[in-house]
Amino acid sequence: MDAARRDRLIALIREQGERVTTARRALVTALVQAKGHVTADDLAALVQKAQPDVHLSTIYRSLDALERIGVVDHVHLGHGRAVYHLADEPHQHLVCEVCGAVVEVPDATFAELGDNLHRRYGFTIRPNHFAVLGRCRACARD
Ligand SMILES: [Zn+2]
Ligand SMILES: [Zn+2]
Ligand SMILES: [Zn+2]
Repeated sequence: MDAARRDRLIALIREQGERVTTARRALVTALVQAKGHVTADDLAALVQKAQPDVHLSTIYRSLDALERIGVVDHVHLGHGRAVYHLADEPHQHLVCEVCGAVVEVPDATFAELGDNLHRRYGFTIRPNHFAVLGRCRACARD
């Protein structure tokens, strides 16, 4: 488990003038350990396993708070539920419609497209909110 990363994220909460509660700390820890994208329900289960005294409603409220503070972000990878990931390493998502693989690509991947759309249509895209769907390298070969 990357304790340094967790400590950085906890420090970030404090820097925003926000309290570091048991639930918030447990959520950040669970996300660092999970190393990926986790649904709110799976996160709640992980936190309850680590901190059985924390109420489920507190966990969901804390997740919302962490998102508001900017420590956590959610993304829609497909038809299923939104998943949560840490916001300290911004990236974009490509999802394979065939095998479900999630490919993380650099945050600036859609920068040129974004500039273009803004110039032509005055529209500001937020590509990190939804994944771009398609076929991964392995599935495209078939
Ligand atoms: Zn959303
Ligand atoms: Zn992500
Ligand atoms: Zn695939």
